[in-house]
Amino acid sequence: MLEIKEISAGYGATEVLHGISLTVEEGKITTLIGGNGAGKTTTLNCIMGVVKTLGGSITWKNRDISKLKTSGIVGMGISLIPEGRHIFPQMTVMENLEMGAYNRIDKKEIIREDLAWVLDLFPVLKSRYKQFAGTMSGGEQQMLAIGRSLMGNPELILMDEPSMGLAPIIVDEVFDIIHKIQNMGKTILLVEQNATLALSSAHYGYVIELGKIVLKGTGQELLNNPEVEKAYLGL
Ligand code: ATP
Repeated sequence: MLEIKEISAGYGATEVLHGISLTVEEGKITTLIGGNGAGKTTTLNCIMGVVKTLGGSITWKNRDISKLKTSGIVGMGISLIPEGRHIFPQMTVMENLEMGAYNRIDKKEIIREDLAWVLDLFPVLKSRYKQFAGTMSGGEQQMLAIGRSLMGNPELILMDEPSMGLAPIIVDEVFDIIHKIQNMGKTILLVEQNATLALSSAHYGYVIELGKIVLKGTGQELLNNPEVEKAYLGL
């Protein structure tokens, strides 16, 4: 379980998170929704140690990780799939997947087994393993970014706007994969602007506005909440 308590953070003199608290239950999908600039990406970057917190705590496996370096946080089983995927465009699909396992100290056979099931999970990556990643479609690149993250064998996966820029049918494929990954026992914190999709998929959700959590509840509760409907579901 990941527990964020009262964190604040910002850039330079500007504070953009003002005492955020949220819990990500093990084995579940938790979502953080909110409009542009609300602080979703900053929250993920705080968890990863990319943005330093100014106060509060982030506890993972009974340890406050808020002062750790990013490499230490990755080493504790947390992986971020950033907005815009950030795959390595000049490398092949296979090389990108191998990069995902770069930090692992497991035996080669275990990594090879993981590669086999990741390729089984994504037939599109299997059939294109020699293709340069930069020449893949947006949906394929998102699959690759998820596959690369899985190659690091994380327990907790942070996903920043996986639906961004993808056609609806591809978004459905990406979300099918997210459910499969959760069913494998991974824990997911999903940041999304597509609130309907995120809340329909998540067990629990939080709404962030101007750096503060303003609402929380099960995915279904938030979907039925009139304030959420008005502000985020376009109803
Ligand atoms: P979006 O959905 O548009 O990505 P978000 O909810 O993820 O939005 P953040 O990217 O966390 O929001 O941004 C929160 C606030 O912090 C915004 O006002 C943004 O302009 C500011 N901000 C983000 N990154 C930086 C940065 N590197 N330097 C300065 N300000 C930043």
